[in-house]
Amino acid sequence: MVNVKQNVSLKDYSTMRLGGNANYLIEVGSRQDLEESAQLAQKNNLPIIMIGAGSNVIWKDEGFAGIVLINKILGFRAFEEDETNVFVTVGAGENWDSVVAKTVQMNLTGIESLSLIPGSTGATVVQNVGAYGQEISQTLINVEVFDLQDFKFKIIPVSNCQLAYRSSIFKTNPKNPYLISAITLNLSKSSPDKTKIYPAVTDYLNQNNISEVTPENIRRAVIDIRSSKLPDPAVIPNNGSFFTNPTISYSQFFSLQKSLNQAIPHWKIDTENVKVAAAWLIEYSGLKDFHDQNTGFATWKTQPLVIINESGTSTANLIKFRDFIVDTVYKKTGIRLTQEPQILP
Ligand SMILES: Cc1cc2nc3c(=O)[nH]c(=O)nc-3n(C[C@H](O)[C@H](O)[C@H](O)COP(=O)(O)OP(=O)(O)OC[C@H]3O[C@@H](n4cnc5c(N)ncnc54)[C@H](O)[C@@H]3O)c2cc1C
Repeated sequence: MVNVKQNVSLKDYSTMRLGGNANYLIEVGSRQDLEESAQLAQKNNLPIIMIGAGSNVIWKDEGFAGIVLINKILGFRAFEEDETNVFVTVGAGENWDSVVAKTVQMNLTGIESLSLIPGSTGATVVQNVGAYGQEISQTLINVEVFDLQDFKFKIIPVSNCQLAYRSSIFKTNPKNPYLISAITLNLSKSSPDKTKIYPAVTDYLNQNNISEVTPENIRRAVIDIRSSKLPDPAVIPNNGSFFTNPTISYSQFFSLQKSLNQAIPHWKIDTENVKVAAAWLIEYSGLKDFHDQNTGFATWKTQPLVIINESGTSTANLIKFRDFIVDTVYKKTGIRLTQEPQILP
């Protein structure tokens, strides 16, 4: 029997520490719990939202008149090894960074650059997490889900997940019926490809006289770089990057560089489009380390993409602060930023 808590504050289930109450909350520790919770919701005609650690969600002030499911399904199984590949199936509720640590200890390559990303394993596919040149899409094989349409567990192959930059079928479909219970990754026994190491990681390895490119050395580099740049959500409430890097056409990009008379950091996507650094746009607009006493929110001193909650007490005020940033950047650069974390429900 699942343990149903009533009238629970959702502030404790978002690293931004905002939001009203959930009518009901259940910690789901097994596939059986998941099925039982779904049946309970159906029987009582209640909506469901499943989350992991709440590091990419912000709850509305009015809370949620339904059942919040916290995924705590554990498990780590390595199988079907051959000379170069190891497949691992991981429970959606496993802490992601512990999974990365474990695979790095096994000297496996594939997710070492995704070290220290907060949250659960299941959520990594929801927005196709990425950092320092790696994305979960590069190693994901499939996702095990419980389908709320027919109450069956299913395996969705990566080709059907529509993974894209900070996006997937699990994020874009407003009627997403899938509760993720596990994911399977294909990791490699080969060393990381030196030509694909992210420039900041290469700089770190050079500065620290580390010549061997191993998953462990990359993990250590990424942890050090991230720790020096990003606030720890356990200490300072935040959701990591609050905005995605906008994609614009090369012609828009060149005319913007010309009109601002600035070299804008960017990454080539294809022959027609580039991604520009949202952090640069915010800093250029004068909003780095910007503190707003009225709302209680600020941008982080070393990474302006991160909004921190200094003394904010409502999601309505966070939205005001967000809109101020979006409007200011738009007035200064003509580019409208898009929010990364999800506001629920
Ligand atoms: C300091 C900081 C740094 C960050 N850095 C990065 C980064 O470098 N790259 C990056 O991509 N992200 C980053 N993030 C964002 C965040 O850590 C990731 O998106 C992470 O995968 C979210 O995991 P979570 O368990 O906290 O998900 P939650 O916030 O709990 O949920 C996120 C979304 O996924 C859905 N969801 C979660 N679990 C399930 C499930 N089992 N089944 C169905 N739906 C589910 C939720 O409904 C919600 O829509 C950062 C966040 C912070 C606070």
